Amino acid sequence: MEKVLIIGCKRIMDDVCIGCSRCLVGFNRREGYFELYKDEEAEVMGLLSCGDCPGAGIVTRLAQVKLWNAPLNEKPTKIHLGPCLAEHCPHKNEIIKKIKAKAGVQVIEGTHPYMPENIFA
Ligand code: SF4
Repeated sequence: MEKVLIIGCKRIMDDVCIGCSRCLVGFNRREGYFELYKDEEAEVMGLLSCGDCPGAGIVTRLAQVKLWNAPLNEKPTKIHLGPCLAEHCPHKNEIIKKIKAKAGVQVIEGTHPYMPENIFA
């Protein structure tokens, strides 16, 4: 069973991207980067924010995920980075480097495929 932890931008999650619904719908439908789990058992085990600019606390926050979930016997087997972080964050290079260096599980730079092409057309 794959356990997916999604990491996104604190300033965008559930604010610009209301309810983080596109990531969750994408996962439920196994679309976008979640096609990886098309024929696999997988669950989302958490939605984690970077902790705010400039993402200095991301490694500590990953450690907190481990501690918080230890009594539940839950830990991520895959990490996905939302487009709010992987594409739009000005600090993304540093944050992604830190996550990849410390996570100990595969880090995938992407989640849902539902980016709008335009607003009014
Ligand atoms: S560090 Fe990047 S991902 Fe985090 S709040 Fe700032 S812009 Fe968003």
